[in-house]
Amino acid sequence: MNMNENVKDKNRPSGPIKIGEVIVEVDRDLCIGAGTCVALAPRVFALDQDGKSVILDTADSELEQTLLEAARSCPVAAIILKKKSGEKIFPQ
Ligand code: SF4
Repeated sequence: MNMNENVKDKNRPSGPIKIGEVIVEVDRDLCIGAGTCVALAPRVFALDQDGKSVILDTADSELEQTLLEAARSCPVAAIILKKKSGEKIFPQ
């Protein structure tokens, strides 16, 4: 994929990034590139050239519920969701 075109913030491709009311971050050290998040939320996540999940500029159109399902689906719990206040949503 062309990182510059599709990634929401190319300075922080894996976040933390605000999507709607939620702040999303992928822990790149934990991410093993399993791609479950990409399968569940293809508007939000894609794998970069290192096989790590990055957050796309189409993420804003996704539902919070889908973000949560993607985070829950990650086999290594690499997707961290927080409220704007900093309170953790997932993992708890
Ligand atoms: S599901 Fe988890 S391990 Fe797999 S690509 Fe997404 S963040 Fe990485």
